[in-house]
Amino acid sequence: MRNLHFHTPLEYVKGIGPEKAALLKIHLGLKTCGDLLNYFPFRYVDKSRIYTINEINTASAEIQLKGKIISINEIVQNKKKRLTGIFEDSTGTLELVWFNVTNWLIKSIPLYEEIIIFGKINHFNNKFNMIHPEIEKINDPKINSTPLEPIYSNSEKIQKRGINQKFLRKIIHEILLSLENPIQENLSDEILSQNKLIPRAQAYKEIHFPTNYKILQLSEYRLKFEEMFFFQLGLGLEKKYRQSTTPGYLFRNIGNNFNNFFSHYLPFSLTNAQKKVIREIRKDLGRSVQMNRLLQGDVGSGKTVVALMSMLIAIDNGFQACMIAPTEILAIQHFNGIKELIGNMSLSINLLTGSTPTSERKNIHQNLQNGSLNILVGTHAVLEDNVVFKNLGLAIIDEQHRFGVKQRSKLWKKNTIPPHILVMTATPIPRTLAMSFYSDLDVSIIDELPKGRKEIKTYHRTDAQRLMVFQFIKDVINKGRQVYVVYPLIEESETLDYKDLMDGYESIVREFPMPDYQVSIVHGRMKPADKEYEMARFINKQTQIMVATTVIEVGVNIPNASLMIIESAEKFGLSQLHQLRGRVGRGSNQSYCILMTKTELSKEAQKRIQTMCKTNDGFKISEVDLEIRGPGNILGTQQSGMLDLKITNLVHDKAIVSLSKSAVDQLLFSDPKLQLEKNKSIKEFFLTHHLDKFHWAKIS
Ligand code: ADP
Ligand code: MG
Repeated sequence: MRNLHFHTPLEYVKGIGPEKAALLKIHLGLKTCGDLLNYFPFRYVDKSRIYTINEINTASAEIQLKGKIISINEIVQNKKKRLTGIFEDSTGTLELVWFNVTNWLIKSIPLYEEIIIFGKINHFNNKFNMIHPEIEKINDPKINSTPLEPIYSNSEKIQKRGINQKFLRKIIHEILLSLENPIQENLSDEILSQNKLIPRAQAYKEIHFPTNYKILQLSEYRLKFEEMFFFQLGLGLEKKYRQSTTPGYLFRNIGNNFNNFFSHYLPFSLTNAQKKVIREIRKDLGRSVQMNRLLQGDVGSGKTVVALMSMLIAIDNGFQACMIAPTEILAIQHFNGIKELIGNMSLSINLLTGSTPTSERKNIHQNLQNGSLNILVGTHAVLEDNVVFKNLGLAIIDEQHRFGVKQRSKLWKKNTIPPHILVMTATPIPRTLAMSFYSDLDVSIIDELPKGRKEIKTYHRTDAQRLMVFQFIKDVINKGRQVYVVYPLIEESETLDYKDLMDGYESIVREFPMPDYQVSIVHGRMKPADKEYEMARFINKQTQIMVATTVIEVGVNIPNASLMIIESAEKFGLSQLHQLRGRVGRGSNQSYCILMTKTELSKEAQKRIQTMCKTNDGFKISEVDLEIRGPGNILGTQQSGMLDLKITNLVHDKAIVSLSKSAVDQLLFSDPKLQLEKNKSIKEFFLTHHLDKFHWAKIS
């Protein structure tokens, strides 16, 4: 009977019933027929070939064999039961193994009957075996005759209660046959033909029951494209809405300050990437629409000067600008760095942090309000309600990943018209992901380092090699360079970590004694003034070694430091390692990074360390990080729900993400309100499936 729809609850599907429907809901989150059709296989096994036992020569291959089980044995070992069987074909025998022995299991194993078994080959005690093989009787009716069999992700728990692979295949087959209406196309003919997409109905059938590998690929492509298309359509409409409703200050002029700085103060020539990004920002600022831009650039790519030049545009147009950093050390560095860059230009700039004395704070507040202060650099202190600007035109936020959307919105409230906002981050993520994730931001990328930078050479060493490492530190210091030694600080084991840090500090002071050597130490438990004092000693080259916790992770810029030693490097995440390494390699000297670890490493830790030794490219590193940890973990779980993708993998499917993005751009350019007849199917689908994420009323 053709009576099912996408929205039909699963219990109404023949063969499911209320009990199994409940299990599907609780364990797999599947409630309707549509949910199940959208529950795509996570892999396929090739059953086009039946192997023989004498062909088996490697473990972990998944193969099919045809033959008979000729004996079954129950074995009890360490109080645990195990079942073994001997499987035989015309070429030999293979051991089969089952754990979790139950009567039901024993009964279900056919003896002396011609069967096909399927499973993964293992190597154990110098023998091959197969654990928990799938068993199929030769005369079983096949659900489908495809050689590529879909495998759905599933839990052991419900497998035992009858929801196994075979069952899932059967009901999906049933649903596909029983849909009252054929699966409707939701893209326009134009988009289908331009992107060589197969029809939606065919893709759904083939993704579950592929005729062959070629069509399977086309189906995956079609469904991924569709998924990203509607996802990005939502973002695009949202952005259009924001741009049409959020007014922004118009910075019409490039004036004296910008030009003067560019011709007389800029100490180097800008890289092409810096120029490109400044142009993008200038364009945004000249449109009377609020800018919300994310500036991504690898560590050392020169974001600060881009920030400064943007602020100069604001000042040239009679506005104030501020720059906010996540930590006090960074704010101070930015403040000093910017002061140095602008030299004796007649600009007024001040620093505001948690430890700014009250008297000075009063002064700053006053000058902000009367407009005589041009640039305010600071920490979160700048966001406090009592910090009132006369006319804040541009706010720059450094290091996005420590700065929430909430805090950004605080900035919006500083004026009736929100200031333009530039968010800078040194944790580059692939462009496609950035565009998808920071949906409310436009993205600029500095994808080029200033000329003459040398690659930082990175090595992996263990404790056994510590003496050599000490010697290397000495060599570096003898050349007049400086060295960082960084210890992890993980909240859960804070006390232990501090002990490690202090032990490490002591052993370094012992190895590098005064008066020949001077060692600084900076960590989170020190008073801000003490930290600053120690930093200053290092910056002024009074000390040669800086022992620190990760407080120095981001932003610190000391070009003479050319060696970074990271202790217990296995405890750090990839992006953190990359940030830390980015503290060196800032001058013209060859710089080095040594990752110290214990000898035994987890697989993931190994991968992180290897990646660091192999590349300096922040974008590549973040891709590996994405692969290891997944987008949710990197970008924060809060918003990763937005990235609840069913089939697209943002790391591997970048090409599809950008193809669908172009299709969306083209569509919104030619038919911004989706009013044309040819786009009717798109609009209808969007309205029924994506309205929860977007309020259509906003734009129409
Ligand atoms: P990040 O992007 O990590 O914040 P910075 O803005 O701190 O990088 O710049 C890193 C270093 O590179 C600074 O010492 C800065 O003066 C220098 N720098 C920036 N742009 C250029 C350039 N175009 N040519 C040469 N050096 C540059
Ligand atoms: Mg920086």
